[in-house]
Amino acid sequence: MILHPLRVGTVRATGGPVAAYLIRTGSGNVLVDTGYPAELGGQADGPIRVAEGEDVVSRLAALGFAPADVAHVVCSHFDPDHAGNHGAFPDAEFWVQDGHYRVATSGTVPRIERFRKYWDLPELRYRRVTGDHTLLPGIELIESGGHVPGHQSVLVRLPTRPVLLAVDAIPTAAALDPERRPVYPFDLDEAAVRAATARLVKLAESENALIVHGHDPVQWETLPATLS
Ligand SMILES: [Zn+2]
Repeated sequence: MILHPLRVGTVRATGGPVAAYLIRTGSGNVLVDTGYPAELGGQADGPIRVAEGEDVVSRLAALGFAPADVAHVVCSHFDPDHAGNHGAFPDAEFWVQDGHYRVATSGTVPRIERFRKYWDLPELRYRRVTGDHTLLPGIELIESGGHVPGHQSVLVRLPTRPVLLAVDAIPTAAALDPERRPVYPFDLDEAAVRAATARLVKLAESENALIVHGHDPVQWETLPATLS
């Protein structure tokens, strides 16, 4: 099993990455998140910049993969910097927490509702799970709601060392301390954010896993192009 962190954009305010991850397995390729809508990434005043050739489909192509080569898309959540290009993968199965799917489709989170056309497409096949779920051997979906209800992280048991893709549950290294961590404007439930942080940190300790943050500009520079 091989993991490729893919930079698929930049948060203008922080310089942090917008990330997706390709996991290559013997039972098919798994993509975690699809980045910010490619068609909006060139807007000069937008919150996210997506450079030419930086969108997820281009990143996959640079590795030799077409969208049809992706069997599974794991949805950490439906914020626009994570679910902006789902329509590019009509052949994949999309894995989402049921609690997140229900909140998103209810239309009660304005920032998710505003970008609905990018994730609520009739041709997309959503598979809804509740709580932790083994997607494939060595790939576990970890419920980590708080940032939004039903946010999920991904534990990837690579041969050399497990990696915990925390995504927005622990977006930077500054958010590793459950008690003292900052709670950000887009975090919807402070108590749940702290509980999810504690749970993920404990899991990473017990698994000796590397925690990969969703939007950390410093850590991003230290990540190799391939982890195995
Ligand atoms: Zn994010």
